[in-house]
Amino acid sequence: MLSNLEVENKYDVVKIGNDLEIGGKELVVMAGPCAVEGRKQLLETAEEVKKNGGQILRGGAFKPRTSPHSFQGLGEEGLKLLAEAREKTGLKIVTEVMDSEDLELVDAYADILQIGSRNMQNYGLLKKLGQVDTPVMLKRGYAATIKEWLLAAEYIITHGNPRVILCERGIRTFETATRNTLDLNAIALIKEVTNLPIIIDPSHGTGKRSLVSPLAKAGITAGADGIIVEIHPHPEEALCDGQQSLLPQDFGDLVGGLKRVAQAIDRKLVG
Ligand code: PEP
Ligand code: MN
Repeated sequence: MLSNLEVENKYDVVKIGNDLEIGGKELVVMAGPCAVEGRKQLLETAEEVKKNGGQILRGGAFKPRTSPHSFQGLGEEGLKLLAEAREKTGLKIVTEVMDSEDLELVDAYADILQIGSRNMQNYGLLKKLGQVDTPVMLKRGYAATIKEWLLAAEYIITHGNPRVILCERGIRTFETATRNTLDLNAIALIKEVTNLPIIIDPSHGTGKRSLVSPLAKAGITAGADGIIVEIHPHPEEALCDGQQSLLPQDFGDLVGGLKRVAQAIDRKLVG
């Protein structure tokens, strides 16, 4: 038995606000920049997400960077820009909380709290997430087994918050040709052993722009309830993860392709 989530969690579907559900028949599309870099970049990107059929805007205000010398995010200023983008477009916001200390602040802005790969086993933070009502998207640790990932989800659930969405974002393997190895087995298996919604992140899963679209489609075919992808109006100028960010046009093409994939597996995109 991988987990007792089936008995613990009665929610097949996680509601985001009053008008969006994740985990039902309809597939959600989350997209946006890796990091919120400034007002123009974010608002331009948000318009593209909206125009091309996305429902949720992603963007980190607190960034977990491997190097302390890399851009660390705009902090609260970034959260305010996300709120402005939500106001202008009607998109919902998913953004990362890295530290228990910032939970209250990020929770005041986010529609979905993202827990990044590096924090999947930050048990203090997971317990605190049990005390909020906001849905949590728990990304898989890059070196975590499926069992460890599900047990991390149970920390949040057993501490009081059943609104957990899983996100497969690739794991570290012996392969170096891609940034990570996207684990499609995990998608199908999670659907078999839990009731939790699961999102596929082919941007971090591959680390390479040209691979994002094929792997997004593969993830949906394997049973994912939606995608999260990075897009940027000028990827070559991005302060974070430009090499894996789609141009807005590529994103539009991807959403078009996903509509056909969804139809083939008797699902549809939201909207
Ligand atoms: C991100 O979504 O930008 C991110 C940092 O993801 P991960 O935690 O999966 O590396
Ligand atoms: Mn990123």
